[in-house]
Amino acid sequence: MEPLLLKRIQIPGSETLAVYLREGGYQALRKALEMAPDQVLEEVKRSGLRGRGGAGFPTGMKWGFTSKDPKRPKYLLCNADEGEPGTFKDRPLLEKDPHALIEGMVISAHAIGAEYGYIYLRAEYPYASQVLERALAEAYEQGFLGGNILGKGLHFDLHLHMGAGAYICGEETALIESIEGKRGEPRIKPPFPANVGVFGMPTVVNNVETLVCVPLIIERGADWFAAVGPKESPGPKIFSLSGHVVRPGNYELPMGTPIRALMYDCGGGIPQGRRLKAVIPGGPSTPVLTEAHLDVGLDFGSIQAAGSMLGCGAVIVMDETTCMVRVAHRLLKFFHHESCGKCTPCREGTGWLEQVLDRIEEGRGRMEDLDLLLDVSDNIRGKTVCALADGAVSPVTGTLKYFREEYEAHIRGGRCPFRGKVSG
Ligand code: SF4
Repeated sequence: MEPLLLKRIQIPGSETLAVYLREGGYQALRKALEMAPDQVLEEVKRSGLRGRGGAGFPTGMKWGFTSKDPKRPKYLLCNADEGEPGTFKDRPLLEKDPHALIEGMVISAHAIGAEYGYIYLRAEYPYASQVLERALAEAYEQGFLGGNILGKGLHFDLHLHMGAGAYICGEETALIESIEGKRGEPRIKPPFPANVGVFGMPTVVNNVETLVCVPLIIERGADWFAAVGPKESPGPKIFSLSGHVVRPGNYELPMGTPIRALMYDCGGGIPQGRRLKAVIPGGPSTPVLTEAHLDVGLDFGSIQAAGSMLGCGAVIVMDETTCMVRVAHRLLKFFHHESCGKCTPCREGTGWLEQVLDRIEEGRGRMEDLDLLLDVSDNIRGKTVCALADGAVSPVTGTLKYFREEYEAHIRGGRCPFRGKVSG
């Protein structure tokens, strides 16, 4: 399939309005403004688009909750807080195709009746912030943002809001708190942002890639989008491929493409003829899969049936030299550090898991530590305000499920059996 979401990123000057217009940009907005808001919403519903930020919630359904709420003003927030290790799919869109995001947001605002929007950008993307500021200024100058957009009476003001480096602000309610100037901590739901969001008003929060899909749907039609990939999770999707592959990078493929095709046809396979050990299909908060899962399709349903989650589509490949205890330890360290501290099981439990993994990795572990890891994980999962904690235990439970013998080898041998062999 020819790239569509990434089709402009190689064009010199693709981030400018002049190039975007030359390449057919803002035509979908013109078309959408000829349609009633309900028609646009219905088109997105029929397309089957599901959120590309991780949860995979149907976008049209999410919009419907907010559009029906009579309270005003309504807000549309773009979650550009791309912070999970191995996740970099939104970055080229933000840095190379900012007008596609702006166009997607204006069309979405028209559909849900939003007057105001924010792009919440992670602090670690300073170049993207410069690009977005310039693109926003251009869009205002040319009448694609502000009052009476393209003379059609639509009002939508859009601002850039920089994060401050917290991973948890990628969680939609923590993001909302952060925009309100508060500490970035998730809120207890319900109420959901659809009805009580930023500043207490009805709010839609969508991921960058989700919003960039919207002009495509309007331009090519819901039927076209729905026909790409599996019926339950259709459309094109950007996968960030990293780890032990010859050609890491972002690849746009139809949903449902097998892991094998991404890894070998796009990524060139594993360097130096080594064997695959494990693959994380959707970012570190999703459980690992193995060689036995290479023919599983990269879509929400298939990956879930295989025992993991598609998440945001960050595929991390690990070859046979990788120590899975070290993998779990490194990832736990990340989640422990990023826990906002609001819930005791997450704040304390991730720290305890890290300590137990630390001693196993260093050869000071005990066999009973393995059950302890599972017991602590069980007391974290499903018992917290947000999904960070569930994601944090995934590296532990996933690696124990498939690689328990590696943990045992560390404990029996009193050292890491992979020391000196790890390829980095
Ligand atoms: Fe904060 Fe962790 Fe609780 Fe989420 S699960 S609210 S990150 S303490």
